[in-house]
Amino acid sequence: MKIDIDRLRSDLETLRTIGRVEETGGVSRTSFSPADREARRWYLERCAEAGLVVEVDGLGNMVVSAKDEPSGAKPVWTGSHIDSVPDGGFLDGALGSMAALECLRRLTEEKVPLSRPVRAVVFADEEGNYNHLLGSTGIAKGFDRARLEAMTGRDGDRLTDRFAELGWDLDAATRTKVEPGEVHAFVELHIEQGPNLEADGFDIGVVTSIVGLSGGKARFHGSADHAGTTPMTKRRDALLGAAEFLTTLPGVAASISKDAVATCGLIGVEPGGANVVPGTATVTLDFRDPDMGRLLALGEAIERSAREVAARHGLTVTWEPDTPVAPVPLDQGIRETITAAAEGFGYRHTDIPSGAGHDSQNMALIAPTAMVFVPSKNGRSHSPAEDTSWEDIEKGGNVLLATLIELASDEPATP
Ligand SMILES: [Zn+2]
Repeated sequence: MKIDIDRLRSDLETLRTIGRVEETGGVSRTSFSPADREARRWYLERCAEAGLVVEVDGLGNMVVSAKDEPSGAKPVWTGSHIDSVPDGGFLDGALGSMAALECLRRLTEEKVPLSRPVRAVVFADEEGNYNHLLGSTGIAKGFDRARLEAMTGRDGDRLTDRFAELGWDLDAATRTKVEPGEVHAFVELHIEQGPNLEADGFDIGVVTSIVGLSGGKARFHGSADHAGTTPMTKRRDALLGAAEFLTTLPGVAASISKDAVATCGLIGVEPGGANVVPGTATVTLDFRDPDMGRLLALGEAIERSAREVAARHGLTVTWEPDTPVAPVPLDQGIRETITAAAEGFGYRHTDIPSGAGHDSQNMALIAPTAMVFVPSKNGRSHSPAEDTSWEDIEKGGNVLLATLIELASDEPATP
């Protein structure tokens, strides 16, 4: 059985017009903005049109069921998010959300006999306008009132004000937690957001884990001196040390694993004048690896490199590490189901780690969870250039549908 790619395509092309940025062709649907609210209304209409039932929880997560779903067994969930970053692409989140709905429509139309309900879910605020992975964090861990009251958006607006406008009750937002075991399994279809599947000619990525993430600040201290009167041989230039340190990062990452990445996207120089030798240079790093042991080793190797370079330049360095966010391994059994589904269709597939965060990392706390990736053209994402061929989208949708049928076809546990 296959999805209806024409219907899915039409949905994705319509959703793309909601919050469209005319100048760039991108999409701005930051969560709970007027565009996001319009997209949510549109999504609810699509569900109603298909005769499906929607439950919206206190944080705005939407969970969609068939009217005549099997009773008494824990449901299989699938879905993603329809909010976007400012001027983002049209597939990040939207693909997994609309493909989930498409799968539910196909299962209902074909009256596929299942022993478990399959439910489509749209998580609220994945992109963190108010809180990164807001909706799925509420499902996996819950929020207390004080945390929600303190949340502000990119524009400095308060979440509580948005909820008041929507007529939503903050108490309901504190009651979104789903207990471990209430959901039988979760699968999310998503674009890769990186270049690997396309470069290696794969149709489907079976995601092995969601990357672990850490970071830190390296502060190089030297001596702030006159840019004209201090000879080059007598300087202790903090920025020169920091710059040399940054050039060591590709080698440091490669020494840990082929998946390790380290990035400096932020540099601060003090005192900060074109005619002053920098006295202090602070480089802020983000580094990631799919394995916790390697993530910790990467942090240590980065610190060591900073100290070696500082010593060579007659500088001192302080290293302020962030608290690491552990990688999330995805469920082996569901990964095998996805792999078998891809093979059943004759699609080329490979195991691949996810370098980005996803709602799946929260769902993995309460249910066996896995992800399916489809290629991203040129690896572009969080940008209007984000794109995937309709052929690859159809393949991803077919693999998702076959996986859901398999996961929902087992015998329900006897109470
Ligand atoms: Zn996403």
